[in-house]
Amino acid sequence: MAYKVSIKQFNHVLNTLSDKYKIYGPKKIEKKGRYSDTDLVCYKPISGLDEMELNEKSFFSPKEIIYPIRETLFYFTEDNVSVPSVPDEKIIIFLRPCDINGMKRLDTIFLQNGPEQDFYYKRLREKVKFFMIECNEGFDSCFCVSMNGNKTDEYAVACKFNNDNVILNIQDEEFKALFSEGAEEVQHEVEFVEENKVKVEIPPVDKVTKEVFENDIWTEYTHRCIGCGRCNTSCITCACFTMQDQHYGKDNKMGERRRVWASCQVDGYSTMAGNHDFRTKKGDRMRFKTMHKINDFHKRFGFHMCVGCGRCDDVCPEYISFPKCIEKVNEIVKGDSNE
Ligand code: SF4
Ligand code: SF4
Repeated sequence: MAYKVSIKQFNHVLNTLSDKYKIYGPKKIEKKGRYSDTDLVCYKPISGLDEMELNEKSFFSPKEIIYPIRETLFYFTEDNVSVPSVPDEKIIIFLRPCDINGMKRLDTIFLQNGPEQDFYYKRLREKVKFFMIECNEGFDSCFCVSMNGNKTDEYAVACKFNNDNVILNIQDEEFKALFSEGAEEVQHEVEFVEENKVKVEIPPVDKVTKEVFENDIWTEYTHRCIGCGRCNTSCITCACFTMQDQHYGKDNKMGERRRVWASCQVDGYSTMAGNHDFRTKKGDRMRFKTMHKINDFHKRFGFHMCVGCGRCDDVCPEYISFPKCIEKVNEIVKGDSNE
């Protein structure tokens, strides 16, 4: 059973929820886009449906809500270390199925990748409930169906937004109590995108051999990629970070330690002690990223890291296509490559 509510009623419930929850959704920020006079769609706090941008894909993913771009881990003095607190309020995020699947990848990295769970990620993640935005159709660069990122049942509420109403499939009793009051009961099965314009065949994990690593396809990326890291910062599943100590005084006795997003495509990511760098070529970095997204992560956890959101294609200033890259790997695996 689903519920049909008017936009006014939907906003009224959001307003009630805002006493307990901070609510985030995709929002259009005017004149902040990559080109002059263009807008940016990214995740921001919202107070009603009219503030959400539902007709365009967000440039950045919602991951920064629970995994901030820059996060202070602790403050230190000579005698003390203190961990900053986070606000008590819980969090609602409006997001699409691929991004819920992306969050599952982040959960895997931060909570299941070793004996210790990430304290900072966990304390924010535990506050979050997902309101899924039903996609009417995919955007041009989406390939979520190929990556199995198009479907999920891990939502509190699924929302189908129509012109003058919202149809809600609700799995969380707290929200059911609020939205069902005065709502019309309707039959509605949650719908997912079943076909994308972009389709890609993912090479079987056990068929990716050393030949793929040594193939010449990666040379193209050495020439084309400029190592800007935009693909990583927009990706819902990239989780790498670096550490920075920020000192407050000249004597270095007080300060804070931060973690800051890092990018495997950017200079310095693989630099080690002694200034050794084992991935200086951009093509080697592209290979590393590709293998992580469609092979290595799967070997460890049983599902692919990439969810096919297509944001890396949307943001790349060099028009590098990730599905095309996957296709090239698949051709080598199938023995179709010209190399
Ligand atoms: S690799 Fe690209 S398509 Fe895959 S999840 Fe990341 S941004 Fe989306
Ligand atoms: S966005 Fe494009 S150019 Fe920039 S690092 Fe990623 S692949 Fe390279």
